Amino acid sequence: MPTMLRSLATNSDSTLVIGTNMAGNNIAPGNSVFGKKVAGDGANRPSLKSVRVLVQRDWGFGAFRPLQEEAIECILAGRDSVVVLPTGGGKSLCFQAPACALDGLAVVVSPLISLMKDQVDALRAVGVAAAVYNSSLMRSERDAVVEAIRSDSLKLLYLAPESLLNENMMALLASVPLSLFAIDEAHCISSWGHDFRPEYRGLRQLKDRYAGIALHAYTATATGEVRRDIAEQLGLEDPVVLVGSFDRPNLRYRVERRSAGMEQIVEVADKHRAESGIVYCISRKEVEQTSAALNALGYNTAPYHAGLSGLERREHQEAFLQERIDIIVATVAFGMGIDKSNVRFVIHTGMPKSLEAYQQESGRAGRDGLEADCCLFFSSRDFHTWKRLMADSEEASQGAMESLHAIDQFCKSVSCRHRALVEHFGQSLERDNCGACDICLGQVEQVEEPLIIAQKILSCVARLQQQFGADYTAQVLVGSREKRILARGHDQISTHGILSEYAKTTIRDWIEQLVGQGCAVKTTEYNLVQLTEQGWQVLRGEHTPVLLKAVPKKLARLRRPGKVGSWDGVDRELFESLRSFRSQLAAEQGVPAYIVFGDASLRDMARRRPTSPESFLEVHGVGHKKLADYGEQFLAHIMERHNATDATTMGAEGESAAARRDCTKRD
Ligand code: ADP
Ligand code: ZN
Repeated sequence: MPTMLRSLATNSDSTLVIGTNMAGNNIAPGNSVFGKKVAGDGANRPSLKSVRVLVQRDWGFGAFRPLQEEAIECILAGRDSVVVLPTGGGKSLCFQAPACALDGLAVVVSPLISLMKDQVDALRAVGVAAAVYNSSLMRSERDAVVEAIRSDSLKLLYLAPESLLNENMMALLASVPLSLFAIDEAHCISSWGHDFRPEYRGLRQLKDRYAGIALHAYTATATGEVRRDIAEQLGLEDPVVLVGSFDRPNLRYRVERRSAGMEQIVEVADKHRAESGIVYCISRKEVEQTSAALNALGYNTAPYHAGLSGLERREHQEAFLQERIDIIVATVAFGMGIDKSNVRFVIHTGMPKSLEAYQQESGRAGRDGLEADCCLFFSSRDFHTWKRLMADSEEASQGAMESLHAIDQFCKSVSCRHRALVEHFGQSLERDNCGACDICLGQVEQVEEPLIIAQKILSCVARLQQQFGADYTAQVLVGSREKRILARGHDQISTHGILSEYAKTTIRDWIEQLVGQGCAVKTTEYNLVQLTEQGWQVLRGEHTPVLLKAVPKKLARLRRPGKVGSWDGVDRELFESLRSFRSQLAAEQGVPAYIVFGDASLRDMARRRPTSPESFLEVHGVGHKKLADYGEQFLAHIMERHNATDATTMGAEGESAAARRDCTKRD
């Protein structure tokens, strides 16, 4: 086992490290790490410890996330690296923190201008000298950045590959001390990836042009092929490859068949009233309808899809980031380059087109590490909708169809969602019960006599000569007297009404589960249900499938394990009021709300209720710059609320007590 695991402070069991050519290398602090001599190696190279101190001082983070420490050590050692962490894993800190500790300028390549701007805003908010350079800047702004580079007064410079590879910029950078190159979204260099950008290929020149400066690639794309391609295309020299666990334990997955109407969406949104969420729909039309319907119900939403003008999209996105609206209803066009950390739920109103897409879209929830809900409501029709859309866009490659089948299986499967996702990405889940998906939380349970039910269903399929779809079969089983059934005389067959004690949707679900377990298949363009060899085995009693049914909601809630939530000790009322105070400040400053403070910081504030600058500094995510910028205002706000609450508690039951009751109810 590589020695890299040594220094993992947290969650080391959920972290997988793949090191290439590093057997026997030692990373004791202060050594020539990983065995390679690097430029500037020696006494004045900052230590990991000094970076830790800096992270606490500027960012206010008391601990590293899995693999951050190892990734930082690579940088301090001047060793090329490829770092793969899931969305929200904290890739940025891996290069930002050491960049602050090292001499010279760190050059960060990123594909998206919007993302760069947010990152630079966030860096400035913690007091780090950072800048963006791109074509959208005014002449004078560009000149100022160039001047800052020349005078060695910047720690990080963000640019798109086109801007970096411009000869003037290349020459300028060759004339100043550089600390490192960080290539963000590095999978864009690989044509194997899902987001190939030809301009990334030009980054190959960096290694030749800036000899001795290490290159560090960051991505959330997990496949080995892409990983190898990144290292090769960038010309990395004997890189350290760090691959984090793809599991996101703070996300609670739920996958359910979609029912008519808005209830499923509303149920989730209500649980997260006044919190941020994303609702993904397959089509633009559905986006518009869903957004309008939610607004009519009193939710605060805006639509986002490629059919809106650039201006409208920008406005809606900004309103979401500044928390002037709570929910964005969108097609998959939304999300790339959004790193809002406090998205508390992501709903899919239809099946996404692949597990990769689902991982990425649902992964936009809970980037701050706090718990968040990911709910997928699917219908069997979604598969065909995607197939049609892919055919139209000539995307129907073998790979795309395989991906579609994989997500279809995921939706209908009856095993742990966390496990299914990480296994898809070639990893394994160590826990038996993830404690955070519908299956493991016991929101579904196995039926008592699965064999008998399965036999009833499959014999009905046989009686119908395997010539009908799942819906029709369920109708017959439930004993429907619909015209089409009577007309065909199917009310006369022995399996008519044989499962009449169950709801049609339940039976429909079981049919899908049987298909999912290979006991039946759907064939032809009409999706006729037909028996497989395995299905015949069930009929002969030689094989028993698993059949699940939903547990009544109240019971399911009772079964939830009493996890120590991150709401522990949090004054919910104070939290809510800090949230609106934050939105107000963010709107005044024209920055996303999370740039002011993340949800984790606000919760900690509402837990600690600091009353002095010293105690404010102890709050998670508060460093010296945030203390200077916001300390006074937030402390005053907390004091004010404190006094107000005292007054209400002493007087008759007031508004805030009612609000407090309301908040507690929501738990
Ligand atoms: P990624 O780029 O991997 O998707 P980010 O770099 O945007 O993730 O980080 C996600 C969130 O986690 C950000 O809000 C960031 O401030 C926070 N974060 C990163 N590292 C830590 C840490 N060690 N402790 C607490 N929060 C962290
Ligand atoms: Zn699970």
